[in-house]
Amino acid sequence: MTKERVKVLIIGSGPAGFTAAIYAARAGMKPVLYQGGQPGGQLTITTDVENYPGYPEGIMGPQMMVDFQKQAERFGTDIRSGMITAVDFSGWPHSVTVDNKTEIEAEAVIISTGASAKWLGLESEQRLNGRGVSACAVCDGFFFRGQDVAIVGGGDTAAEEATYLSKLVNKVYMLVRRDEMRASKIMQQRVLNAPNIEVLWNSETDEVLGEEEVTGLRIKDTVTGEKREIEVQGFFVAIGHKPNTDIFKGFLDMDSAGYIKTIPGTSKTNIPGVFATGDAQDKIYRQAVTAAGSGCMGALDAEKFIAEKEVELQEAAL
Ligand code: NDP
Repeated sequence: MTKERVKVLIIGSGPAGFTAAIYAARAGMKPVLYQGGQPGGQLTITTDVENYPGYPEGIMGPQMMVDFQKQAERFGTDIRSGMITAVDFSGWPHSVTVDNKTEIEAEAVIISTGASAKWLGLESEQRLNGRGVSACAVCDGFFFRGQDVAIVGGGDTAAEEATYLSKLVNKVYMLVRRDEMRASKIMQQRVLNAPNIEVLWNSETDEVLGEEEVTGLRIKDTVTGEKREIEVQGFFVAIGHKPNTDIFKGFLDMDSAGYIKTIPGTSKTNIPGVFATGDAQDKIYRQAVTAAGSGCMGALDAEKFIAEKEVELQEAAL
């Protein structure tokens, strides 16, 4: 196994990771960033991004991530492809293994590994992804103004997104697979009060219909097994996200869903010198702009940690 020592190691290449890189590089910390399995992160699977400030005409998600990367490179970030296969945060410097063959010793680690939307797993859902199928109502709802859409899920995300969509579109069908929702009472109430949301209880998605773009859904009653079709132009999947944090289990404090716990108002985890940013620690907002903001916090926290550690080591050497 080859060994290397770096000051700041950033894991992940979404808005959080690249923003951390921009700040860390400009602070002279020569960050090394590993891109992970989906370089550019979740924005590379969206189309237009119209809610990121600074782009009055909007920008395509993949292009935005190319721009983030260029900006991080411009200040000297060492961007590498590779997957982190193991970590050891039990001592210091922190040890991170890449592709089972390189061990990096890092003075500070910034985790920006993001989260992945859960999908139903239908072939039609994947084929029409970005062509009417979306996992983010806040990102894509606007494109369905005045149209009919469906959203699947019965949790807080689905309830919140259904309510959000109801203000933009003509009609929202909300497919809930049981006869009750998991969402909090207040969120459910908002759904039930919206005149243009129709909750379809005991309903699951059998197929997303359409060749080039979504034209409808075939839904199945989970009690009777009966199938029927509805016409919609948009189909939103809101059945939860999974943070990409499995590799850190055992070292970092997490909630039951795997989101890394940070000290409120900071990016600090329970391990000094390990910082968590973006969707890996945020199950509520999950926006590019909030991820970028938390990436900035990660870099500033890492910079401060390294400066304090240097003083500590100098004092210990005297
Ligand atoms: P949840 O795991 O809470 O809910 C997922 C929902 O999707 C459930 O209703 C579940 O049904 C349904 N579901 C799962 N798999 C399928 C499937 N294959 N087909 C159909 N339906 C399916 O995820 P959320 O993203 O909603 O919320 C995650 C966390 O974030 C929660 O703790 C939530 O409270 C929190 N949150 C809070 C918000 C707020 O406070 N403003 C906003 C958004 C999220 P079933 O119930 O039958 O399992």
